[in-house]
Amino acid sequence: MGKSAYIHTFGCQMNVHDSEIMTGILEEQGYSRTDSPSNADLVIFNTCSIRQKAEQKFYSELGRMKSLKKQRPWMKIAVAGCIAQQEGKNILKRAPHVDFVFGTQNIHTLKNIASACFERVAVHVNPDLATTELPVKRNDGIRAWTTIMYGCDNFCSYCVVPHTRGRERSRPSDDIYAEVSELAGKGYKEITLLGQNVNSYISDTDFPGLLRKLDRIGGITRIRFVTSHPKDLSDDLIRAMSDLASVCNHIHLPLQSGSDAVLKRMNRRYSFSDYMKKISRLRKQIPEIAITTDIIAGFPGETDEDHQLTVSALQQIEYDGIFAFKYSPRPFTKAAEMDGHVQDLLKADRLNEILMLQDGITFKKNKALVGTVQEILIEGESETNSEKLTGRTGSNKIVTLPKACSRKGAIIHVEIIKSRRHSLEGTPVNT
Ligand code: SAM
Ligand code: SF4
Repeated sequence: MGKSAYIHTFGCQMNVHDSEIMTGILEEQGYSRTDSPSNADLVIFNTCSIRQKAEQKFYSELGRMKSLKKQRPWMKIAVAGCIAQQEGKNILKRAPHVDFVFGTQNIHTLKNIASACFERVAVHVNPDLATTELPVKRNDGIRAWTTIMYGCDNFCSYCVVPHTRGRERSRPSDDIYAEVSELAGKGYKEITLLGQNVNSYISDTDFPGLLRKLDRIGGITRIRFVTSHPKDLSDDLIRAMSDLASVCNHIHLPLQSGSDAVLKRMNRRYSFSDYMKKISRLRKQIPEIAITTDIIAGFPGETDEDHQLTVSALQQIEYDGIFAFKYSPRPFTKAAEMDGHVQDLLKADRLNEILMLQDGITFKKNKALVGTVQEILIEGESETNSEKLTGRTGSNKIVTLPKACSRKGAIIHVEIIKSRRHSLEGTPVNT
């Protein structure tokens, strides 16, 4: 009988995709994936350290593994991802029931899991990361994620990513082209290109060049990408988004704060007015574009006036959606050492004000879509209602519709008949 592996993934889409790579490597080593740690021979925690909360969640899950390991002493426990990279061998001291630690640049070492040379702690810098070909076992048959670049060189003062994922490295465009062509051949319809700052992708071509190259692949109807750093959003990228049929009319463009003083301390390297100019250009050239963002509430030294500037930025821009977070001090970061940390209750109040305001804006934007016809890609059965299917518009809005209307993977036109706070309801139309 083959062995089985359970992988618990925390955090962002990049981690979800890294777990797909771990699954691919483990399958080659004779492992099958299981849904429960209680019947696994190998448990991997693929961790996230972007905020303290994510870290605490992982450590409490890891603590629970202690008793399971007593019942199943042959079971191996591995810690991977950003906390592994950040803490290295300290994890073994803190949790002696852990067998292995491997970081974000050392996933390939799983190939040696059955051999005597498998390292107990592998958190080395890996300069070949961008050119290493690794097997991937994807979860979804319709939408696929692919990493186009690793690491980040921006050192935003609050962010642990440059420390956990290392320096920026782009994959050769031919490798990405070959991977996406293969996915098209397997029937995938939508590709999301992943990188911490895709706008600074550079190989034999830049990011707009990569989009133009991938747009030529038949069968892929939708190309998405995350994340764009506002300072590197070029006119050429806006042109490519507007010209290329497969590139979706959605951009996630993290603002973080509406205050220039805070943006400066965050080391974001744009002012609010620079950002607004890019928003105007995007909306002028792609009138249908949906724009979403990330906001941090309560950055060190943030005054009530700074916070109000963020509130007024949200009112002015009217994003289609936002992710907002309370500032969380992270190891190795400059912001953690700054003066003027904001009290947690005040951070929570500011976050709440931001979320309430955006809720109203999202609802208003969704309401405006009622009566319009939208093209959606059906993603499968709704998670909350088994009688319904869910799909997504190119602008990344979720639409539900009755199950009998279509099937997973179909691209259909629907009329929006109802809007909710965070989703829409549609009915198919013949076009
Ligand atoms: N590379 C992307 C970018 O530049 O926007 C995404 C980075 S991160 C995975 C996603 C979001 O987490 C950031 O945009 C930021 O809003 C938030 N974030 C990062 N560090 C944080 C911290 N220390 N506290 C609170 N939020 C944080
Ligand atoms: Fe973190 Fe800034 Fe890099 Fe995004 S661009 S990963 S926020 S350092």
